[in-house]
Amino acid sequence: MTNPQEQICPVCGVKIVKAIGGDRVFFSVGPPGTRARLWARVCQYVKKPGCINTDPGLVGEVQPEDRYRPI
Ligand SMILES: [Zn+2]
Repeated sequence: MTNPQEQICPVCGVKIVKAIGGDRVFFSVGPPGTRARLWARVCQYVKKPGCINTDPGLVGEVQPEDRYRPI
C-alpha cells in the first residue's frame, strides 16, 4: 500500500521522494530540500538506528548553505 517512490524516515519523520536528478526531501516546515540538507539539519544529530538517510552515497555532498540556512 505504500508508494515505492516515497519513503518516510521513521527517525526523522520527513518524507523523501525519489526524483530524477536527486531525491526531494519534504520537511515539516519550509520548502523541500535535498538529502544532503536533511542530513546536515537532522540526521547527523539524531544518530539513531533506523534512519534511512545515513548512506553517504545517497546523501551526497553537503553544501555549507545546507548546514547554516534555517529550514
Ligand atoms: Zn533520518
